Amino acid sequence: MIQLKPDLQGFLRCSIGDGKTAMFWYDYWTELGPLLLFFGSSGPRTLRIPLNATVSQAVSNGHWNLPPARSDIAETLHVILSTTRVPTDANGKDAYLWRNQSGGFAASFSSRVTWERLRTPNPSVQWHSFVWFKEEIPRCSFISWTAFLGRLPTRDRLISWGLSVPPGCVFCTSANESHNHLFFQCAFAAAIWLRYCGRYMASPPASLDAVTVQCRNLQGPQARRVAVVLKLLCQVIVHNLWRERNARIFRDVRMNQDGFFRVVDRSMRDRLLSPSLISSSSPSLLELYFWFLSPYS
Ligand SMILES: [Zn+2]
Repeated sequence: MIQLKPDLQGFLRCSIGDGKTAMFWYDYWTELGPLLLFFGSSGPRTLRIPLNATVSQAVSNGHWNLPPARSDIAETLHVILSTTRVPTDANGKDAYLWRNQSGGFAASFSSRVTWERLRTPNPSVQWHSFVWFKEEIPRCSFISWTAFLGRLPTRDRLISWGLSVPPGCVFCTSANESHNHLFFQCAFAAAIWLRYCGRYMASPPASLDAVTVQCRNLQGPQARRVAVVLKLLCQVIVHNLWRERNARIFRDVRMNQDGFFRVVDRSMRDRLLSPSLISSSSPSLLELYFWFLSPYS
């Protein structure tokens, strides 16, 4: 028996006009769904309607033309057809309708509406606006999003999957590599965060959650814009720590602490100086970034 995709059954309907396009056995043109699924493979023989027939082929002299019902399912179809408009040329062509936002059906197709109806939404997470925001750098957002989900292939995870890899952190070699260690607890990571313990951060954060809390707790008239700089800084640091970790493991090249700071600093300045972020607001985002810098940077 031919299986139709369940999602297509639920999302596409055929509105019968002249019945010359709609397939009698395959299309969803009665409330029973595709009749081949309802009757099974013996359906064409039972109703004496070929598998490739159109709906119009079930009509004769302006009436539905089916053999007498010999089963409950055939009887059900008879009942439904008794209240279904008989296809004629006067009804126009058959039309295929897509499920719309309100749950009804309409001729226009919207990929967004269909996607929203297909997917099972997860509960929204607290940190989504920390990763996805207008001033983001997309390649950095992607890595920080994966880090928030705890899904980067850090060594602790690789080992939990049964892979034989050394467990140690490539930066400090004194602890095992995990998300929290790599981005916050490691001395290499803490040292870069320390460079930004200026006006807004008292000490290096201990985790991604700690950075989001820090963002939420910002006070004052510039709080929203300061939060933008902190979110950007966090994703730039996470992204570059992940790159540096990979460079050390896979290419055997390494930056020292100063070199790494210059890369982070350059990324921040380039982003904050991009034309789309330049505004007349004072202080500028770049100035707010400078205020993040520790006097000892
Ligand atoms: Zn380390």
